[in-house]
Amino acid sequence: MRCLACHDTFFEQPVWRKLLMLESPTKLCRLCELKLVPISGKRCVACSRSLDSLTQAFKNGDQCLDCLRWAERKDIGHLLERNVSLYEYNAFLKELFATFKFRGDVVIASFFAEKMARLYQKDFRGYLPVALPLSQERLVARGFNQSSLLMQGWAEDQDILIRTTGEKQSKKNRKQRMRQLHQNPFSLREEAKIEQKNIVLVDDIYTTGTSVRLAAIVLKENGANKIASLTVAR
Ligand SMILES: [Zn+2]
Ligand SMILES: [Zn+2]
Repeated sequence: MRCLACHDTFFEQPVWRKLLMLESPTKLCRLCELKLVPISGKRCVACSRSLDSLTQAFKNGDQCLDCLRWAERKDIGHLLERNVSLYEYNAFLKELFATFKFRGDVVIASFFAEKMARLYQKDFRGYLPVALPLSQERLVARGFNQSSLLMQGWAEDQDILIRTTGEKQSKKNRKQRMRQLHQNPFSLREEAKIEQKNIVLVDDIYTTGTSVRLAAIVLKENGANKIASLTVAR
């Protein structure tokens, strides 16, 4: 078997569960698997960031500073129910994601998709999964949306959101740029039916949490109930 990250070949002991196909084969060698750090211990209840690794100045009670700041934003702070992630965003994962985004590596996608499926079942059963979209230009340039690849095998991407980005920033003057800042890049497809639905947005990384909240504005405006996000890394 070939490791999807370092491409070394490795052997694994056949276990009866795997022989019976109850579990899919490992796709990372042991050394690489160790570099992937699942978020564990005490987590921020709002964004799932590990609280153990933060100093006292960056947390308070059961939340991280980022989330406490969001909570102060009366306009969009409350829009996201919570974010749940699998792994800490470290150098190894950054590199793995770069390969994934560059090539649309289906092996990498399926490795994470399986784990995302389990987390979805555990935390968001009954929620409508929606991949965070790319803009049309980005999608054409890249050829695939990494977020919908992460749903492979466990959910159909509903494709209800549209993302638009304007022309290149450099062509705009300051006033136009400021206006764009206040414009939401997300909108909803006309035919989408989301009234009273709970929705979980699927994406690769939760960084500042701005994108998912901007998407949440549109979904809430159109009658959605709860909005959460499910991401590979925090
Ligand atoms: Zn490896
Ligand atoms: Zn947090």
